[in-house]
Amino acid sequence: MTTHRDLSDAPVTAAATASPFAALGLIPELLRAIAEQGYEQPTPIQVQAIPAILQRRDMMGAAQTGTGKTAGFTLPLLQLLAPQANTSISPARHPLRVLILTPTRELAAQVEESVRTYGKYLPLRTAVVFGGVDIDPQIKALHAGVEILVATPGRLLDHLHQKTVNLSRVEFLVLDEADRMLDMGFIPDIKRILAVLPPRRQNLLFSATFPDEVRKLSKGLLHSPVTIEVAPRNAPPDLVSHQVYLVPATRKRALLAHLIRSRDMRQVLVFVRMKRDANLLARQIQQDGIATTAIHSDRTQAERTQALEEFKQGKVTALVATDVAARGLDIEELPFVVNYELPHTAEDYVHRIGRTGRAGLAGEAISLVSSDELKFLEDIERLLKRKLPRAAATGFERDSGAARGQPSRKHHERTRPQATEQRAPRPSPSTSPATFDFSKPYQPSPTTSAPATRNPVPSHRDHRHRPTAALLGGKHPHKKS
Ligand code: AMP
Repeated sequence: MTTHRDLSDAPVTAAATASPFAALGLIPELLRAIAEQGYEQPTPIQVQAIPAILQRRDMMGAAQTGTGKTAGFTLPLLQLLAPQANTSISPARHPLRVLILTPTRELAAQVEESVRTYGKYLPLRTAVVFGGVDIDPQIKALHAGVEILVATPGRLLDHLHQKTVNLSRVEFLVLDEADRMLDMGFIPDIKRILAVLPPRRQNLLFSATFPDEVRKLSKGLLHSPVTIEVAPRNAPPDLVSHQVYLVPATRKRALLAHLIRSRDMRQVLVFVRMKRDANLLARQIQQDGIATTAIHSDRTQAERTQALEEFKQGKVTALVATDVAARGLDIEELPFVVNYELPHTAEDYVHRIGRTGRAGLAGEAISLVSSDELKFLEDIERLLKRKLPRAAATGFERDSGAARGQPSRKHHERTRPQATEQRAPRPSPSTSPATFDFSKPYQPSPTTSAPATRNPVPSHRDHRHRPTAALLGGKHPHKKS
């Protein structure tokens, strides 16, 4: 849980000090860790965030996972802690100074991993605490003293109640994915945590969207913040192709199995809305002979970690996930995302498809839409300002009644033949009409008031030589509010 790091006596290479990250004012220990990751260029959010955080400014960041935002806040925070970094074994010499709150356990674990990666050459201690796992090792880690704590709000409150964490020395607070915290009902928990933090601190808030509640929270929290927005993704505009299958709800399962087989999908992330449906669908597809697992907030942490690992390693073909569980997951080079059910919030469609079309590779976003979901499809098309192309698989078409928005006729569906569609090659992204132009800013719906554009950075398994340049968007000047 706790990471102790030794000051390294290995020299910082000239390449590291000459890197574009050095121009942002980062210290050699961090440059070296960055160089080891193979990062060649800072992402736009890093260019904006790192100097501003180093200047001790509060920050409101409109950005989501995939933009390089974690390094954007982690690197400067590590640097601000560095002068007091020490190798003493005394807990008193390691007061908790940075608190990073995230909505999900997965994101907490990923952020902590980043802190550890970038802070490799600084003797600072890090811990992560979240629910669903034994609290005792967390208590032990906190007792030993950690400078940086990544936490989900519920478990942090447990520690506060048990007096196993001391927040009285916190100087830096990061709220990551504030809108998701709102969706998950964490705002009251966050307010409780804020109430016990020292009033003088630097606050950083990141959110993909800015609903009223998040705005209100940020107003009370941030003092003269620097506002940063991620530039539109500067990737080729045709990396993600969209297909909508209009299909009766009762035929979705068969269509999904058919598509996985006929398209030879080896790795597909399947979205449903409710966690109980995630389990059920995973079981059903498994019965259909497709190796499947599920990830949602009711599974234990060990189960979630295992599910994600199996999926990443290609041991299972399909991962069924809810929006909450999938948000923030850094799954590399994912070729297929299937919306088994459409999200009820159009922005979530953009988040979902953001799991594919990464790292310069083409991706496909396939939606199985039943007649009761047509309204959500319209919302999504309004948000994207385009009609998504319809696709058809023989034997799975919606009957004409459903096409007019009426319920499908179940008897009719049962008597339909099984699909006989031939295996289709992945469409060429450059010729597919079904593409979402990421080069245009993502316009949020009227209910949200800040853009939530993606500017993903590549995330190859080989981190040593990341082709960052193609994915680095234009720079936005700091906007001071
Ligand atoms: P994040 O948006 O923080 O979740 O980061 C997404 C992915 O981008 C992670 O896999 C990071 O390792 C990677 N990453 C962060 N910064 C850079 C960079 N400057 N160049 C290349 N990859 C990066």
